[in-house]
Amino acid sequence: MLKQTFYNRKTLLVILCFLLLFTFTFTSLISYRITRDALTTNLKTETLPLISDNIFSEIQQDLISPIENSSLMANDEFLIDWVHSGEKDTDEITRYLSRIIHEYGYFSSFFVSENTKNYYYYGGILKQISTADEHDIWYYTFRAADKKYDLDVDTNQASQDTVTIFINHRLQDQNGTFLGVTGVGLEMQSIGKTLEHYRERYHHEVYMIDASGLIQVHPDQELIETTNIKNLPGIGTLSQQILANTEGTNIYEYNNGKADIVISTRYFPDFDWFLIVEQDKTDTLKSARTSLMINISVGVFVTLLVTLLAVATVNLFQKRLELMATSDDLTGLFNRRKFEELFQREIFFAKRYQHQLSLLFIDIDNFKSINDTYGHPVGDLFLKKLAGCLSEGIREIDVLGRWGGEEFIILLNQTGPEEAFLVAERLRLAAAEIQINTANQTLSTTISIGITTSTPETLDMQVLIKQADQALLNAKRSGKNKSCTTTNQDLDN
Ligand code: GH3
Ligand code: MG
Ligand code: MG
Repeated sequence: MLKQTFYNRKTLLVILCFLLLFTFTFTSLISYRITRDALTTNLKTETLPLISDNIFSEIQQDLISPIENSSLMANDEFLIDWVHSGEKDTDEITRYLSRIIHEYGYFSSFFVSENTKNYYYYGGILKQISTADEHDIWYYTFRAADKKYDLDVDTNQASQDTVTIFINHRLQDQNGTFLGVTGVGLEMQSIGKTLEHYRERYHHEVYMIDASGLIQVHPDQELIETTNIKNLPGIGTLSQQILANTEGTNIYEYNNGKADIVISTRYFPDFDWFLIVEQDKTDTLKSARTSLMINISVGVFVTLLVTLLAVATVNLFQKRLELMATSDDLTGLFNRRKFEELFQREIFFAKRYQHQLSLLFIDIDNFKSINDTYGHPVGDLFLKKLAGCLSEGIREIDVLGRWGGEEFIILLNQTGPEEAFLVAERLRLAAAEIQINTANQTLSTTISIGITTSTPETLDMQVLIKQADQALLNAKRSGKNKSCTTTNQDLDN
């Protein structure tokens, strides 16, 4: 019965625990999903396009004026005349190119002549270009292409091979004769810094690719001119789509094997490059993840707290129930059932260790008349006082219970007949001392006690109770207010 209660309680607590945890986790996950979707939508429709537009205009501003100035150089009569007059005075072109640098603050300015193959820069003649030098291939490629101008990322031989964006512009005379290529160079670092700023401040990776997908501008300089997005994980599968889409701002999503990435792309028609702004979705969802973790932790904590409270409450009620099932309401003593249970246990010990047990059966004399004369509440008061008196008069190892009505029963542990008789007498005299004050008089009563002591043959609950009951009957018969021990004659019956 107790075992079953224990299992029921355990099942109840497990269900409670599971329900709470499930509810907390479920609601937390739902709210996480809602937040995640909202943040992703916001990233795709608001944040990323806006940032992309800002960077786009910033970079365009950085690049448009060099393109315009290269165009001005290519239309400069001085340059055309100087070429036509046989490129005689190198100082003149050097001064011209230096002026451009100082005027606009460019990193480099140059003119490569088709006639002489001289590469002029602000410091004089740098070299003579040749098809054999792989550094000069750009010139022949550009010459062959049908373009007025072009952007080319390369190392600058005029300045310790610094990575530079060259704006190459075709120089032609009035007849359309190709005279060479002129233009300016921008230090890649300055644009790289703009991109680095976006990376640090907003955790966006920003870079630019040319029409073939080759990286041209990137904060990570090692990728420039060496890496094509077609060969990168995730974005590679989208590269065709990205390169074909030259209208407006476009959003794509992919997984690069490590994280979910959202990118926005935008085409620069002026120099045939694409701007790519990349955002790791995990970064955006960090706050949502943190709040999910907090929610679940709070859930686990509350579940633990509620479970502990439930355990404490259930235990409290269990104890109360047990107390109700084992004790007598009026006197607080063990009831008959509990007394019998404890009695059986003591019999077991007595048998094992060969103790003697004595039993006192107590009945209040003429109790009915007390009830009849002074009312039940007065009778109850007697019962309570007697219970207190009896429990004070016995040892810790003795067991006292209310047998029913005005009858009490005491098991005296490890007690022989003489000692039992002494205890009974002491209790009987103490009971006679109990006084109840009513309005006009002081009441008292007496008790009769039947005593029996076990022998190895009579060490049995029913037998001992029957004997004590018989002894009590004898006490009543012989005039009440007496302690009577079982006689041999009783034993024979
Ligand atoms: P005797 O001396 O022979 O024992 O006579 P008695 O009147 O004590 O015995 P009897 O068995 O005739 O009466 C017992 C009375 O105890 C009857 C009953 O009303 C009363 N009684 C039983 N339980 C309670 C109780 O809880 N409260 C009160 N006030 N009276 C009770
Ligand atoms: Mg009675
Ligand atoms: Mg009685």
